[in-house]
Amino acid sequence: MERYQGQVALVTGAGQGLGRAIAERLAEEGAHVAVADVNGDAAAAQSKALEHRGLAASAHVVDVSSGPEVGAWIDSVFGQHGRIDVLVNNAGVIRDNRVEQISDEDWHTVVDVNLTGAFYCSRAVLPHMREQRYGRILSMSSMSWRGNFGQVNYVAAKAGIVGLTRGLALEAARDGVTANAIAPGLIETPMLASMNDKAREKLIGKIPQRHTGDPTDIAEAAAFLCSRNAGYITGVVLDVDGGISIGSSIR
Ligand code: ADP
Repeated sequence: MERYQGQVALVTGAGQGLGRAIAERLAEEGAHVAVADVNGDAAAAQSKALEHRGLAASAHVVDVSSGPEVGAWIDSVFGQHGRIDVLVNNAGVIRDNRVEQISDEDWHTVVDVNLTGAFYCSRAVLPHMREQRYGRILSMSSMSWRGNFGQVNYVAAKAGIVGLTRGLALEAARDGVTANAIAPGLIETPMLASMNDKAREKLIGKIPQRHTGDPTDIAEAAAFLCSRNAGYITGVVLDVDGGISIGSSIR
């Protein structure tokens, strides 16, 4: 059974990485996926790849840190499809540094894209979701939201995602709209793959399950939280991390 048949799903930062995996999964389950990314080539390539497989997708060049761009994008998707069922706030950037070395620009870029972008997109879809009396907003937090060395800008933005999610969940609860977040742990991305063996081994030693996650692990959780099946779940942050958030597993 295709859980997302007839649904329209918006995924930001879907040109690569986790967003790409989530977009693919929702399209495989029958959704029309609006693939949005600031990198237009990546968005177009991902949308084409999905269409090539007979799945429904469209590409959109959007900088989520621009309120007017987000507004125009949501208007155009709604204008074309007449509904918006799912929003996945996934677009993200990092500018890691020790706190004294973080420039004004590196602070604002990280907060503007990761957190304010999620706010702009959520604010723009909410009236449509309320009107339909149905909607799912899922935002990507990170295991870093509890604190991580050398990235206070990212930590602040990802903790902000938790606050945004909980506030949205309360305000939308009576209208059939849920808001949840996923906090991914160490997922097999190009950045992780490029690490040297020793650094990698040390990191993996901190994961209770002793292995990294795959982007499909995140897509699996996203596809559940954004489905009709998850209707009574709202305001949660789901750790998808092989147990790393539980605490130390070194013995
Ligand atoms: P992850 O490993 O978490 O998936 P990536 O850096 O691989 O992270 O992917 C993040 C995606 O978000 C990229 O495709 C990137 O182009 C996109 N992105 C970054 N900034 C913006 C932005 N301002 N608006 C929309 N998409 C963005």
